[in-house]
Amino acid sequence: MDITLLGTGGPLPDAHRAGPATLVRTGGVNLLVDAGRGVLMRLAAAGLGAAQVDAVLLTHLHSDHITDLGDLVTTRWITSFAPSPLRVFGPVGTERHLEHLMDSLADDVSFRMAHHPDLAWNPPMVVTEVDLVGPEPTEVWRTETDPAVVVSAGPTDHRPVHPSIGWRVDDGSASVVLAGDTVPCEGLDRLTSGADALVHTVIRKDLIEQVPVQRLLDILDYHSSPQEAGETAQRAGVGTLILTHFVPAPAPGDLDQWTALAASTFGGTVVAGDDLHTVTL
Ligand SMILES: [Zn+2]
Repeated sequence: MDITLLGTGGPLPDAHRAGPATLVRTGGVNLLVDAGRGVLMRLAAAGLGAAQVDAVLLTHLHSDHITDLGDLVTTRWITSFAPSPLRVFGPVGTERHLEHLMDSLADDVSFRMAHHPDLAWNPPMVVTEVDLVGPEPTEVWRTETDPAVVVSAGPTDHRPVHPSIGWRVDDGSASVVLAGDTVPCEGLDRLTSGADALVHTVIRKDLIEQVPVQRLLDILDYHSSPQEAGETAQRAGVGTLILTHFVPAPAPGDLDQWTALAASTFGGTVVAGDDLHTVTL
């Protein structure tokens, strides 16, 4: 199983970090978790096109995590020579969001269909909203390509962004959890228990707290610090904690600080990578 950090940035544009997105590749299955700014550029750098994504797993509907879904939908559609439905799993609200997205793309779709006689179908999609009740994780998809690859979902806590979902991928020999944005919570603990690796978004609360701007201070209460991500990883007993979605964007050479903070609460391996960094389990 290969886990590639496609985008390690946050909501603010950064010259070197794309928006949040992570690729999990195993058993011939390509799973994309979130679709932030620049996702298709980073996918191309990882050797994949939009048409090769087997499913998109959305952690929540914050714009920085979904802003390039439209690019994915359109590019997949115009590079497929037969209808190839994009499979999307997400929290309740995903269907409505995608309906609005398709409304926004309607002019482009009609222009292209009028111009290309062989493009005779609208961008097809298969959307599954995962409605979780209680903290227990639930299996949501067993892939056709490789039935050993199982996708599960568990509730996270990113309130007032609700619902939000953490994803787990098991392939029979390795497993990874992709937490998205969340504070430590029982749902994430249960989902992560016994996994090999945890990909967790992180913000440096110690740095944000020093900026006297209320709009920045507001974000402290619904994200995890590296130390909190480390505590979650420690409770779950994972071997590797992979940090991503760095807020604020680390200066060059600063990732060691982030790693050390997570390592202060976690005894396993901590990885703090740049875009396209790959961890193989
Ligand atoms: Zn968020």
